[in-house]
Amino acid sequence: MTKLILALSLLLALSATAICQERRVAITIDDLPVVSTRTDLANRRKITRKLLKHIRKAKVPVIGFVNENKLYSNGKRDEDQIDLLRMWLADGLDLGNHTYSHISLHRVGLDAFEADIIKGETITKELLAEKGMTLRFFRHPFLMNGRTLQVKADLSKFLAGRNYTVAPITFDNADYIFSAAYDKAFDSGDKLLMKRVGEAYVPYMESKLAYWERQSMKLFGREISQTMLIHANFINSDYLDDLIKMLRGRGYKIVDLETALKDDAYSLPDTYTGGAGISWLHRWAQAKGSDQVLADEPHVAEFVLKASGFDSE
Ligand SMILES: [Zn+2]
Repeated sequence: MTKLILALSLLLALSATAICQERRVAITIDDLPVVSTRTDLANRRKITRKLLKHIRKAKVPVIGFVNENKLYSNGKRDEDQIDLLRMWLADGLDLGNHTYSHISLHRVGLDAFEADIIKGETITKELLAEKGMTLRFFRHPFLMNGRTLQVKADLSKFLAGRNYTVAPITFDNADYIFSAAYDKAFDSGDKLLMKRVGEAYVPYMESKLAYWERQSMKLFGREISQTMLIHANFINSDYLDDLIKMLRGRGYKIVDLETALKDDAYSLPDTYTGGAGISWLHRWAQAKGSDQVLADEPHVAEFVLKASGFDSE
């Protein structure tokens, strides 16, 4: 009897551990310091402060990916803009390179792209060094990383040579469309529309995440550590706390990017050479066979798309 109880308690403890460890996600935020229709310093400060307040409150690790062209005014370093990044580092967060000017590899070609990577690491490296940190991660703008296997291999070699780890993403979504709609509604003084867009945002993100969980199950028979991409934008400055609540409500532990990437799934090759910037889950699924891609990916509601000014997702 005692043995049975012991065995049962062991089983319960094991399954509790399994549940606790089951879901992991890393939060990565792109286009720092801020991406919004209002590019003035006061607005950038406000958005930065609000984003960081949510992150501090939730006590979660976050990495922000920087476009350094936003740190210059009239061709000169702008210390006020650079201070926005110092705010991230002061909160113990990490920074990565997202190229200097957010260019598309597929449009400019490898040489220009590599030059933009080098140009984009100058100030971030200095700021990280002030904190005793090093620049470790790179995220491709538009998630575009080559139309041929040769270009992909050459770029990977270049990045590895500069000690970068590529930051893939699995939890892809269109937060930028919601934020464009939110920005536009704000600019036109349409508070009702702002509220409607805002209230639709986190439920949309949850439906998207549920899709990536199903896609992961189909492909791997388990839920891999997810990597979420969102942007340093207006809507997240208002809703990041709700977004984090949603993640936790689904049982997610929020881990740093390095920890998430230790999941074996990320050691699979990325052989995708299509033109779109798609989730790594879809890259791996396509490599395995077209029947591996789940069809029911949620879309942005029509009223949000219309308000955003985007033609399509
Ligand atoms: Zn970006």
